[in-house]
Amino acid sequence: MTKLSSQAARNGELRRKAERKMVSHSPDIEAMSGEDVKVLGHELQVHRIELELQNEELREALDKLEEAKARYANLYDFAPVGYLSLDRKGRILQANFAAATLLGLEKDHLAASTLYDHLDAESQDRLYILLRKALRSGGREIMEAVLPHPGGERSAELTIVSAVEGAGTVEEGRKVFRCALSDVTERVRAERELARQKQAYARLAENSPDMICRYDLEGRFLYASPSTTRLLGRQAEEILGRTHAQLGLHPDIRETWERAFLHIRSRRQPMELEFRIPGADGPTFYSAIVVPEFSEFGQLDSILSIARDVSRHKRLEEELRQAGDRAEKASRAKSEFLASMSHEIRTPMNGVIGLTELALMQEPKAKIRDYLHMVKQSANSLLDIINDILDLSKIEAGRVELEHADFDLRDMLGSLFETMRLGAEHKALSFTTAIDPGVPDWINGDEGRLRQIFVNLIGNAIKYTEAGQVSVRVGLENDRKPQDAGGHDTPEPVCLLASVRDTGIGIPKDKLGSIFEPFDTGARSAKHDGTGLGLAITKRLVELMGGRITVQSELGRGSTFTFTAALEPANEAAASEGSGH
Ligand code: ADP
Repeated sequence: MTKLSSQAARNGELRRKAERKMVSHSPDIEAMSGEDVKVLGHELQVHRIELELQNEELREALDKLEEAKARYANLYDFAPVGYLSLDRKGRILQANFAAATLLGLEKDHLAASTLYDHLDAESQDRLYILLRKALRSGGREIMEAVLPHPGGERSAELTIVSAVEGAGTVEEGRKVFRCALSDVTERVRAERELARQKQAYARLAENSPDMICRYDLEGRFLYASPSTTRLLGRQAEEILGRTHAQLGLHPDIRETWERAFLHIRSRRQPMELEFRIPGADGPTFYSAIVVPEFSEFGQLDSILSIARDVSRHKRLEEELRQAGDRAEKASRAKSEFLASMSHEIRTPMNGVIGLTELALMQEPKAKIRDYLHMVKQSANSLLDIINDILDLSKIEAGRVELEHADFDLRDMLGSLFETMRLGAEHKALSFTTAIDPGVPDWINGDEGRLRQIFVNLIGNAIKYTEAGQVSVRVGLENDRKPQDAGGHDTPEPVCLLASVRDTGIGIPKDKLGSIFEPFDTGARSAKHDGTGLGLAITKRLVELMGGRITVQSELGRGSTFTFTAALEPANEAAASEGSGH
């Protein structure tokens, strides 16, 4: 522009110079000699060439100007940022492609609209104020605007300055606004989402009945949820920035939290803790989790804690424990009562049996003898029942101590199997037994109680089987071979694994869970008598021996009872004594 005007000025000067020359040389043509005319012609020629040269220069300058204009227009049109020129009323005077795209219109259609037309109502109000402000300040003004775009709302940042159109040129004139627009839709969306999430978390903390707090590394409150401020009876402002000590909390609480903060600072691991706050109606118990919070660079930043009132839970737990204690005491008292009652009944029953036997020895008449036999039989079954009750009661009252003595297991089982075989053969059942070779001859334990377990299970198998077979197998659990006890300070236990299988009536599925309960008589037919105490006693004895008993059964096809028992290996003397077997 300045180049152009200086060129014009120079041209004007040239013209004036030429005119002056013409006047000063304004010769009286008629009075001129032929020589003069020749000189004048030559001068004119020189002037013409000069002018042509100047024209040439001018054309070149114009071409360069056009080129620069096109380059700037291109830069303007295709800039990645939107540019607009607005008049004072906000009418769009000029727009580049980026601005047109953002406003959702063809570039050529923009000129027919104002910037207001492309904004939502609230942004329109703010733009109005902003333009006034830009006019007044003459500086840069920035705002964020919402553009209700057909393909979904968009957000733009507008930077506006007021300027004078064609400033510095001859056409210098009205005031306009230059406006840069950038698309910030994604940023605004991300900010909104962040704010939404922050709010959601804040709502959680604000409405939680748990006490949620955040501390700095020195234990000063950075945040305290409303439940915390309520409990401490203070406003949040009074709490924030202060430590437990500064708030005058109970020394116990301070100490517990000091330890927690120390743990977090040194270990950087979450931890759980319990504390209580003394109160007029007794203490309130809290259970808390304390968690370290790290900055994005992995530095320990702050400490978060969530504490819950567990007083009710604690009370219930205590009540439950007391109820359990009471129930256990009552049950033990009942068992003790039964044990002593059974004992009291046994003495007169023995009298009845003894006297019946004496009466039988008096050679009574046949009928009386029959009656006396029946009395004796009845008395004997009653004694059996009483013995079972006494046994179970004693076990339940914790008054049964197992014996620890060496005994010959194979010998015991051998004679037991012979006795039981009689009963099986009596019912024409096949009776098979097997003792695995790994089972040691001698072991240490309670021989009588182990026999009782086998008698109960084999007795039941024979009792509840009408045809087929009863088989007994004795082995070791997990095939663990017993070790040579000699020289070992803590000998490995001998874990027996025994099973009693029959092809009898079986047990219905719904009864399988309860047959080990006292007085449960399963679903057997009326022809089998019994008290339902045998399996209850068996189970408790097995458990006293550190084992477990299980049953598998199919109705009409038979049952298998399996139990384990942990016994000690026999001591050296007995074992070597028995090694001759
Ligand atoms: P009971 O004196 O009645 O035999 P137990 O405690 O020994 O008492 O057994 C409880 C119940 O379990 C029995 O009444 C019976 O119904 C069932 N039961 C036990 N062993 C067997 C078995 N081998 N086959 C079928 N049912 C059995």
